[in-house]
Amino acid sequence: MKLKKLEIHGFKSFADKTEIVFNEGITGIVGPNGSGKSNIGDAVRWVLGEQNARTLRGSKMEDVIFGGTANRKPAHFCEVSLVFDNTDHALRSDYSEVMVTRRVYRNGDSEYYLNRNACRLKDILELFRDTGIGREGYSLIGQGRIDEILSAKSDDRRQVFEEAAGVMTYRFRKEEAERKLQRTQENLDRVNDIITELEARIEPLSKQAETAKVYLELSARLKELEIQIFILRYDKSKARLEEMQQTLLGIQEAITAHEKDLEENAQKRDQLGDMIAELENRIENARLEAQQALDEKHCLETEKQNELNRIENNRQQTESLNENIQSCIAKRARLQELSSEDGDHERGQKEAVEKAEQDVRAAQKELSEALSKADHCELELDAHKTDILNAVN
Ligand code: ATP
Repeated sequence: MKLKKLEIHGFKSFADKTEIVFNEGITGIVGPNGSGKSNIGDAVRWVLGEQNARTLRGSKMEDVIFGGTANRKPAHFCEVSLVFDNTDHALRSDYSEVMVTRRVYRNGDSEYYLNRNACRLKDILELFRDTGIGREGYSLIGQGRIDEILSAKSDDRRQVFEEAAGVMTYRFRKEEAERKLQRTQENLDRVNDIITELEARIEPLSKQAETAKVYLELSARLKELEIQIFILRYDKSKARLEEMQQTLLGIQEAITAHEKDLEENAQKRDQLGDMIAELENRIENARLEAQQALDEKHCLETEKQNELNRIENNRQQTESLNENIQSCIAKRARLQELSSEDGDHERGQKEAVEKAEQDVRAAQKELSEALSKADHCELELDAHKTDILNAVN
């Protein structure tokens, strides 16, 4: 197994994607203080699953994401990939090249990938156990740790050597098995406690069991009776329901009939309303006509009065004409008497007679015209009277 490549993107000072290829032999990284050499070691430790931000020389995990500079914005996430040549299958994977990737976002979401397939942190830790490469492995020795290994207590050194010797898996399994044993022992203790407690309760429990048996029998009987009551009630309710449904049907039919009646009545009401409106119209017209007739009657009465006055005039005229006629007849008789006495005046007398006769004829004509006019006026008066009566009716 051999380390082939490290890809860093957005991690600490590596804002741009950076690839470091490890060729044959030893690769050394040199640079001035603060140029980012240790950040490369941190990237390796981080991608292998380091969870402690202090180990990565930060205060929180977000500190590993490129924080920006005066000319550059901070990154939203960082990603580191470590590629191994696994042709010897030293890592327990079928792949001949294993790529481990870790990505973290500013909101704290963290993702792990094995050969670009999403996986759990546990899978990565399992893969590197006993290879010396894990986050606690002896392959990663940070600044100051060499002193620690050389001079610290034997227990600290032991972990490094155990990892190198490949006994970590067994040690881990042993610890796991011991933990399980401990848990099982605790469970056993609890069971024993429960058994002791239960033994003391057997006597009263047997009595309670008797009571419970009676209770169960009685409750079964109760349940049976309750079911019977329920069935009886159900039957009764069903019959009642059917009865009510019949009643409901009757009511619905009655409602339908009433609704029909209502509709008819509404139609009739509308028709009557129309008729009333028409009658009111007609009454109004009749009232107007009556008013008109009264006005006409009034006019006709005035006309009648005028006609009566004219008749009275005509009558007086007739009387005066009759008097004229009588006077003319008397004059004619007188003239006839005089004609025999005075022959010279005969001609003049004759002319006077003719003149008088003409006057008489004219007066008679005038009289007959006045009479026929009076007759006509009376006829008109009668006609007006008839009109007035009709109008008043
Ligand atoms: P020395 O030789 O003194 O140990 P070094 O070369 O190992 O130094 P590092 O400690 O790896 O340098 O890098 C420190 C640099 O990384 C500092 O300039 C620091 O500003 C930068 N750095 C650390 N974290 C971030 C971060 N989140 N974003 C941007 N730059 C960072």
